[in-house]
Parts: sequence; structure tokens; C-alpha cells
Amino acid sequence: MASPTDLRTEDALAVLRRVFGYDAFRGFQRDVIDHVVAGGDALVLMPTGGGKSLCYQIPALVRDGVAVVVSPLIALMQDQVDALTAVGVRAGFLNSTQSLDARRRVEAAFVAGELDLLYLAPEGLGVRSTLALLDRGRISLFAIDEAHCVSQWGHDFRPDYLALSMLHERWPEVPRIALTATATSATRTEIASRLKLDDARHFVASFDRPNIQYRIVPKREPRKQLLALLRDEHPGDAGIVYCLSRASVDKTAEFLTANGIAALPYHAGLDAGTRAANQQRFLREDGLVMVATIAFGMGIDKPDVRFVAHLDLPKSVEGYYQETGRAGRDGLPSTAWLAYGLQDVVQQRKMIDTSEGDLAHRRNLAAHLDAMLALCETVRCRRVQLLEYFGETTTAACGNCDTCLTPPESWDGTVAAQKLLSTVFRLDRERNQRFGAGHCVDILLGKQTDKISQYGHDSLTVFGIGSELSEAEWRGVVRQLLAEGLLAVEGDYGTLALTEASADVLGRRRTVTMRREPEKPASSRGSKPR
Ligand code: ADP
Ligand code: ZN
Repeated sequence: MASPTDLRTEDALAVLRRVFGYDAFRGFQRDVIDHVVAGGDALVLMPTGGGKSLCYQIPALVRDGVAVVVSPLIALMQDQVDALTAVGVRAGFLNSTQSLDARRRVEAAFVAGELDLLYLAPEGLGVRSTLALLDRGRISLFAIDEAHCVSQWGHDFRPDYLALSMLHERWPEVPRIALTATATSATRTEIASRLKLDDARHFVASFDRPNIQYRIVPKREPRKQLLALLRDEHPGDAGIVYCLSRASVDKTAEFLTANGIAALPYHAGLDAGTRAANQQRFLREDGLVMVATIAFGMGIDKPDVRFVAHLDLPKSVEGYYQETGRAGRDGLPSTAWLAYGLQDVVQQRKMIDTSEGDLAHRRNLAAHLDAMLALCETVRCRRVQLLEYFGETTTAACGNCDTCLTPPESWDGTVAAQKLLSTVFRLDRERNQRFGAGHCVDILLGKQTDKISQYGHDSLTVFGIGSELSEAEWRGVVRQLLAEGLLAVEGDYGTLALTEASADVLGRRRTVTMRREPEKPASSRGSKPR
């Protein structure tokens, strides 16, 4: 005789086929669904496009009552509800954007048990009238989407998510399922503890996205490099270009448009109407390039994003993974391209130094940046290193990243490092002066610039001792020393300074291996004629 769980499981598969029109579950969808249908709590970590939604939508249909889905993506609630309604699922939403009339209708349907799913903005759960409403209906489960929004250090933090820990106290018998595409075990632990998911079973999928080709290139003339990428490899494709600042978003969008590429800007400085219109166009039209700050992207379900390009360094591997993960949700070949340079390191270290928050917070930011820098400077397979960061050990190099396609050479940079650090040491004595990387490199190359004559730096013993490397190579040396913590930047002007570890290199107790950039950047697709 079949146990009740077996019967429910059959129901789940039947629902998948009848309602959603799919033949089989993917990955561990079925395990999650069985667990939640049986009343258990779950924490689900799955990459973007992995199929998280069905993990709560099917239990919502199988269990009695209404599933309450907490989602921060107010702008997308209508789309989600429309998509469910189209396949005959009874869904509604409550958020601040709807009319009082619409709200009343949804509330009545909820109380009458005429809904399968009710989408709620997280702030709704802080409102007493909403809680009272929920008490009047029958809740089958709580789904907490984008659960990493509870993580206080991430850039998607939503204070309202902290209040979600009360769901368990108020409705102890209702199962909860939290879902996210953010993968580190630190975030996972933080989600479980902040949401009081003590007994939840964790379902962790592989975070590999094999169809995404990862490439990190030295930043020279970033906009021109970007243009070449789009023209040579992605003509007419839809994609996202991330920039750090609003100004640079605007400039880059103008630059692309002027060069015949249909591009739209998106950042928090644009009015809400323009933002919404640009987002809609990006979703509905073919082949548009969205140039955006990281304010853009969460919950964007556009399957055919063919490339994600970063013109500035992301602050963490988590951010990089999440942003690049918006490429290729349809499983077709896609590019994740990042241009990265010395200025990125200087700028980000400065931002951390001047950031609000205590020492522990700054250390946390610095540790995340270091992991991102390590990914940029690695001579190993990018994918292997990325997955290792998320706790997945894969042994084989992927064959689909720049270091696999065009292996960079490594070279013994110990002497170069010593030359550079000696220069910094000598300049360091002129404490009240400000000498950045450019000046140090000029000294090593023996350039007679105005600044060098002004300070008499052509009489330093290190003047002109670095002519064996080019200017670009020296900047690479500075970048890698910064990435490894063998050099630091201080103050508003990016003044170079020694660190404790510098002494080991200067004292010949430590060697430094460096990455030499390949002459020709990797591309598996070859160049198409323009
Ligand atoms: P996520 O929320 O994890 O980013 P979605 O839930 O939006 O992913 O699912 C991504 C895509 O995969 C959707 O188009 C969805 O319909 C599809 N999908 C999910 N599960 C299955 C399945 N078992 N079989 C076929 N397609 C699926
Ligand atoms: Zn690789």
C-alpha cells in the first residue's frame, strides 16, 4: 500500500505535467517538493535559471491552503502572477502599487481560500493589518524568495527581511522554504540563522554554469575594448554592461549608441518611469544592451542574455557570480567578460578605508575584495577557482574560460617586486607627499616628467632601473602586489605604501610569481567579420 507521502509525490509529478507541461523534475526539485509537501522546512540554493520557482509553486498546489510567497521584486509580481494565471493557477499579490479595489479583491479571495499563491512584499509583513489578514486565511506554506536579502553585508540587503524570523513563532506549524541563488556557505549560515531555519534541510545545487565562458582581461581602454567584444562576438545580441557609477553608466550608454549599438541606461539616479520603461524594453525587445549599475538585474528573467560585461571590478565573488549568472539562462553559449585594472584596486581599497562601519565590517569587505582579486589574478582555470570559492571541488579545468583557452604564462616577478617596493620605500620617507602608482612607474622607467624634476626624483638610486618592463607590465606588477597584500594604497590620492608582508619580499625571504597577460585575449568563437 502506498504511504501518504507516495500519493503526494505522484500528485507532484502529475501537477508538473498537467499544469506546467514539463515531463520530469530537474536536479533535486523533487526532493525539495517532497520535503515541503510533507511539512518540512527547506533552504534551497540553486543558481539562477535552475528552477527554484517550482520548488514552492508545486507544494502550493499540492498542499491545502494558500502559499504565501515573500518577494522583494515588487516590479515583477504582476508578471509572475500573470504567468501563473495563464496556466490556470490561482495567484494574486498584495503590494503598495495596487489600487485599493484590487487589494480588497485579493484579500477576499485569500480569506475564502480561493487562491493557490499569494505574493507579498516583505514590508507587508510588518503591517499589523496584513498579519491580521493572514490570520483569517489558511496558509499552506511560506516561501521566502531571494532569501539572501536577509544578509546584512550583501548589496541586496532589505531590512524588512529581518522581521521574517517571526513567521516561525507566529505560525509554527506552517512549513517554510527559503530560496536564493547566492551560494557561499557564509551566506547560507547567515540566512538559516536570521530566518530561524534551525531544522531546515539544506538543498545545495552545483553552481556551475557550463554555458557561460568566463573571461577577465586587463583594462586598457575599456569602452573600446567593450565595443570590440560586442562587434566581434555579439553583434545584435542582448546583454548587460555593469558600471560602478551612474556617470559612467550614462557615458557608456551614450558611447555605445554613438557607435551604432542599441543601448539603454539604468541606474537609481533616473526617475522611476524611465527605469521601468528601459527595463520593459530590455525584456521585450530583441538585441538591446542594458548599461547599468548593480541596481539592475535581480529577478530579471530574460533567458537570452548573451553576455554580461563588467567595466569595473565587482566588490565580491558573490556579486560577480550573481551578475554574470544573468547571462545564458536558456543554456546557450554566453560570455561573462570583465575588464580589470590597477585603478579598480586602488579605488575599491579606498572605498573600503573610507566606508562607514566598524573595523570588523571593513575587514569583511576587504576579505571579499581579496577573493575577487585572487580570481582576477589567477593562472588557474577561472571556473575551478570560482566553484571552489563556493565550496565545490571540481578537479578538471573547464576548457571554457580565458585561462583554459589561452593559458597565461607565469613569471618570477621577485626582482621586479623588489624594485617597485624599494621605490615605494624611498618615496615613503617624504611622508607628506602624495605619490601614486603612475609616479612610481615613471621613476622606474626613468622618465623625465615635470613631477620627477620638481622633486628631484631623478637622483634616486631606483631611477631608471626598470626599463626591462613596459609601462603596462609595471602597472600589472603594482596591481598584483596590491592584490596579494604586498603593497597597500592610502589616502584619497591612492598613495602607495608598504605593508608588513612587503618586508619579506624586500628581505628576499619570499618570491613572487606573477601572471603575464596573453598577447591575444581568448575567444572560442573566433572573430566574425565586421
Ligand atoms: P530560478 O528562479 O531558479 O532562476 P526559474 O524557476 O525561473 O529559475 O526557472 C528557470 C526556467 O526553467 C523557467 O523557464 C522554468 O519554467 C524552467 N524549468 C524549471 N523547472 C523545469 C523542469 N523541471 N523542466 C523544464 N523546465 C523547467
Ligand atoms: Zn577554465
